[in-house]
Amino acid sequence: MNSQDRRKSCGFRNTFHIENMQMQFASDIATSSPKLFPCKRDHWLPNLDHGFVTSDPISGAEEATVNQLFIPGENRWDYDIIVDLFSEEEQRQILKIPLSSYGRADQIYWVHDNKGLYSVRSGYERLMLEFSQNYSNNMDRYWSTIWNLKIPAKVHNFLWRASQQVLPTSDHLRAKRVDIDKHCPVCLQHDESVLHSLVHCVFARSVWDATGITSSPSLTDSFKDWLNLVLRSNKQDQELIGMTCWAIWTNRNEVVWQSRSHTVLKVIANTKIFLHQWREVHQPAATHIRNPQTLDFAKWYPPAAGSFKINIDAAIFENQ
Ligand SMILES: [Zn+2]
Repeated sequence: MNSQDRRKSCGFRNTFHIENMQMQFASDIATSSPKLFPCKRDHWLPNLDHGFVTSDPISGAEEATVNQLFIPGENRWDYDIIVDLFSEEEQRQILKIPLSSYGRADQIYWVHDNKGLYSVRSGYERLMLEFSQNYSNNMDRYWSTIWNLKIPAKVHNFLWRASQQVLPTSDHLRAKRVDIDKHCPVCLQHDESVLHSLVHCVFARSVWDATGITSSPSLTDSFKDWLNLVLRSNKQDQELIGMTCWAIWTNRNEVVWQSRSHTVLKVIANTKIFLHQWREVHQPAATHIRNPQTLDFAKWYPPAAGSFKINIDAAIFENQ
């Protein structure tokens, strides 16, 4: 293999990490082709976190360089060699790298600027764009998780209002110029907010501790961020988490309106019983054995002439 023939001017994207900022540059490898196999100095694969190949090199190819992957005399990747040497994901990443048809010298340029020049401003704009896109995707997943929880509709609604900071907590009411005590009605020690009421309040913390759910209360400064984190960390208990938020809020309301509070264990027990009974009532239709005769029996018929028919729906729960 004539490596000189393969040292054509061929552009590729290189990834640099600068203080946690991932900045994508494009450069040319005519004069200094990186090594193919694991070498932390040679980050040449785009769109991979580490930027270098993780496939084991075949015998004799340990010192091979990237320009040996080109077809001699042509500005094209040698597909057969690439398939032989790399994993499927690495093959995809390599073959996506565009190769330049110009025979110019190596250079590094900033791909997010038309002239290839990096500036602090363009770097900042790029970071803010990535941040907003990541945040938007993260929030889309958050709302999708909330609405897909198999819990009562009123708890869905409650979680939406809590996430939007529109529960009638003291801080919210005072912002609306309602003359009300700023303290939490449960602990009487701290200013009340959604985050305090459902997460930081001594009562709420006792409930979360007793459930055994990893709640990490100090890591976030908004209820929505906290719930997002906890739901992702406890995927097997997502419904119970949503129901527990609602139960803590319900207990808070009983303190406000009825001057009574349940014990921590009572709140947890009631929450689990309610969730269990709700699930029993709302089993997916597919789990039932459908009997056509039964379905026909349940068909609605209009009342006889001169009479009224009242249709009602009810569910009965124990202890209520
Ligand atoms: Zn409190």
